[in-house]
Amino acid sequence: MTHMDAVVVDLTRELVRAESPTGRESLAAAALARALRDLGYDEVRVDRAGNVVAELQRGDGPTVLLNGHIDTVPPGDLDAWPHPPFAGVLDGGRVYGRGACDMKGAVAAMAVGARQAAEDQVLGRIVVTGVVQEEIGGLGARYLASTQNADVVIVGEPSDLRLMLGHRGRCEVRAAFPGRLAHAGRAELGENALARAARFINALEGLDLPSVPRVGRASATATSLVTWPKDGTNVVPGSAELAIDYRMVPGESRQELLERLQDLDPGALLWVPEEPFQSEDGAVTMTLPRENLPYLLAEDHPAVPTASRALSAVMGRDVDVGTWWFATDAPHLAAMGAPIIGYGPGDPELAHTSNEHVPVSQLHTAVEGYRALVTAFLGGRP
Ligand SMILES: [Zn+2]
Repeated sequence: MTHMDAVVVDLTRELVRAESPTGRESLAAAALARALRDLGYDEVRVDRAGNVVAELQRGDGPTVLLNGHIDTVPPGDLDAWPHPPFAGVLDGGRVYGRGACDMKGAVAAMAVGARQAAEDQVLGRIVVTGVVQEEIGGLGARYLASTQNADVVIVGEPSDLRLMLGHRGRCEVRAAFPGRLAHAGRAELGENALARAARFINALEGLDLPSVPRVGRASATATSLVTWPKDGTNVVPGSAELAIDYRMVPGESRQELLERLQDLDPGALLWVPEEPFQSEDGAVTMTLPRENLPYLLAEDHPAVPTASRALSAVMGRDVDVGTWWFATDAPHLAAMGAPIIGYGPGDPELAHTSNEHVPVSQLHTAVEGYRALVTAFLGGRP
């Protein structure tokens, strides 16, 4: 084990111990900023949104921005965990805890790997970022994209060390179905909004949805249904509201998917809810739709072979290329206009579970992987 091998494990454990549910990330931000200063970054700051931004400047050249989020989902049932979720326990070559895999391990590996790349005769600027509020809304990444620029972005969401090119988007659609309330004993006098919603759900399941190579098919899943009057079990419901989780493929717009759903019931009222978000200290506020766009980097983009060669050299074999099945901050960061490469330690299936952990061996490989990516994009030599 080298010194840096120990640093990445220690930092992962420290970040896990710094509990940081979405919207309350300041503890983890402070721990990350301290670690980046200790590693010798030229400049480390926390921006107005609460994101950590650290820079290394090595002459004139392009900017590589490495991105991870420092918020996590809640721990859920504490008794279900093999180790306490915020203890950062190292056991059997794995770091356990909420955020170990999604994605404090990646943030630690980026911090160490990018710092090492700065010694590889690179030319350009390296920016390591740990953003807030990825799990809900994406305020941190959206703010970052409006204040930074980059020529290539590396997103470290868990990929089991595969090279990721993107993912489907997510749009939460609400559908309200009108009806006419009546006594259930005189049901013929009413119009049953629940039955109408049921017909819509049935049609939803039969929808022929578009498909795109690499990310697969769009999906539309009914996830929640509320009827009025509530608990009126002897009443014909006068209205019903359905939530639909729509996963759109690249090229599909919100307008298109709303039209597709509207065709199933022209009388239904469809909309995408919006809600206000603010940074932990209230300095940044945004009203955001419950929508996260799809992202897919074209396989013939020059960044893909550069990344593929760099990662394959680290692995000693051809790196696997794929896409994530979940949404990330990539579409928000894409507003900077740079290609986005995905690569991170940890099994994505463990994210948000009570068995969340990241293998130490993958943390070490990820350090090398991030170093190789930065070095390749900034024309250096390890
Ligand atoms: Zn994540």
